[in-house]
Amino acid sequence: MSTTYRNLIGDEWVAAASGKTFTSVNPANHDEIVGEFPASGPQDVDAAVRAAKAAYPAWSMMPAPKRGEILFRVARLLAEHKEELSTLMTREMGKVIAEARGDVQEAIDVAYYMAGEGRRLFGQTVPSEMPNKFAMAIRRPIGVVGIITPWNFPVAIPAWKLFPALICGNTAVLKPASDTPACMVRFIELLTEGGIPAGVVNVVTGSGAEVGNAIVDHPEIRVISFTGHTETGIEISRRAAETLKRVSLELGGKNPIVIWEDADLDLALDSVVWSAFGTSGQRCTAASRIVVHRSIHDTFVEMLRKRVATLVLGDGLDPATDVGPVINERAVEKIASYTVIGRNEADLVIGGDPARDGDLARGSFFSPTIFADVRANARIAQEEIFGPVTSVIPVDSWEETVEVVNGVKYGLSTSLFTRDVNLAFRSIRDFDSGLGYVNHGTIGAEAHLPFGGTKATGNGHREVGQAALDFFSEWKSVYIDYSGKLQRAQIDTSFVDQE
Ligand code: NAP
Repeated sequence: MSTTYRNLIGDEWVAAASGKTFTSVNPANHDEIVGEFPASGPQDVDAAVRAAKAAYPAWSMMPAPKRGEILFRVARLLAEHKEELSTLMTREMGKVIAEARGDVQEAIDVAYYMAGEGRRLFGQTVPSEMPNKFAMAIRRPIGVVGIITPWNFPVAIPAWKLFPALICGNTAVLKPASDTPACMVRFIELLTEGGIPAGVVNVVTGSGAEVGNAIVDHPEIRVISFTGHTETGIEISRRAAETLKRVSLELGGKNPIVIWEDADLDLALDSVVWSAFGTSGQRCTAASRIVVHRSIHDTFVEMLRKRVATLVLGDGLDPATDVGPVINERAVEKIASYTVIGRNEADLVIGGDPARDGDLARGSFFSPTIFADVRANARIAQEEIFGPVTSVIPVDSWEETVEVVNGVKYGLSTSLFTRDVNLAFRSIRDFDSGLGYVNHGTIGAEAHLPFGGTKATGNGHREVGQAALDFFSEWKSVYIDYSGKLQRAQIDTSFVDQE
């Protein structure tokens, strides 16, 4: 079932200049090679940037509503190929097929939303402070953007970045995570079938060190949009400063679900299981901290233990599977190292080890794991583990809750379960995060509101929604003086003085 894939540079699918390749494997079954890909380097990135630069004048001059019409076609094509892309995603990164469909659906939703923006791309018109003068600000494209993406949402995240970049009139060079290059390449193939002109979108596969750095360093790339680990983001930000690039960083999370004593515990339980163990806990918004009022701590931990004991691990294509594999053996080792730490810090309720029984031995599986009675400052409650591991932290008061929720370096998603409307609003005010939920888990963002986080989760930019347009466009303020004479702003104030 293995396929040989190529880079897309201009209108050609080509091998790496070096001829070197690497493979991507199914994390549920290491014997299954999903594909062979170019192990590219700076020379390939440079060719892709030249293609993107050559395509820029025509694409940026195309009226935005026409660019939007192409994105509408792309959205329809993605919808037609949803099952195929979802199946490829489950084979390549393991998430269960229903979640893979959700990942592709996000890309479809963003394509439709951004296609519609082709007829808006709203600017600003304001009254001038001078008579007979017109003032407005319009959005301009920026140039070639570099897009570097992780493996956990291998279609949705490229779409979040690419579609706003394109509707604003930019062209792009994309680098997928080395664990999920097939998802990216197939997604981009569909874009070209949908009518995105040659050179507007280019894909270069290969490592962060070779391809990622070359994108970040390239002097002709004006913008970098990156999602991944906080440490990688800091490194990218440092390097990109050398060429004064605009950089958007979407980074890690340590997201809490707070369960207050008046909460609907059955609803909270469903939401915790979904938020903590969906995508095997490998979501930036995964609920890795469950902050529970002490009066219900033991009851809730027992409810959670019972439910987690029923979760079925397996290949995400099997309809019986609840939790798929983690991305690779390095991830298994990292998660296991945290459960060793956790055993010394808190009570292990269930799980704690790699899962190797029967068919699971063919892939990279980890048992869903719960720690209880966890101190808020324990390492397992502070650091991003990025696996199916969650920590239940008891609290006694609202003040302590706010301290615990905010007492981590990240600020992506927070959630509160309560029936008290006053507490609900306080959580929105007091929890320091870019996403806030009430009576809903920490995952479930929609395509038309800004997505991103505070503190070490990013550098202040937001994806999707209107906010994404601000990142991918340059403001140009325009003044048109139709007075027929010299009017000096802030100096010729006689009009105002006369009043
Ligand atoms: P990662 O290891 O940081 O890699 C992300 C991307 O960066 C990959 O394409 C990687 O390439 C590339 N890369 C690695 N080193 C690089 C360098 N020095 N220069 C340029 N590019 C480099 O992250 P990941 O493991 O794929 O993703 C998991 C992380 O993403 C978690 O921390 C998660 O919370 C975060 N995440 C955040 C959001 C959000 O919106 N806030 C959403 C999803 C995920 P290779 O694959 O070739 O190494």
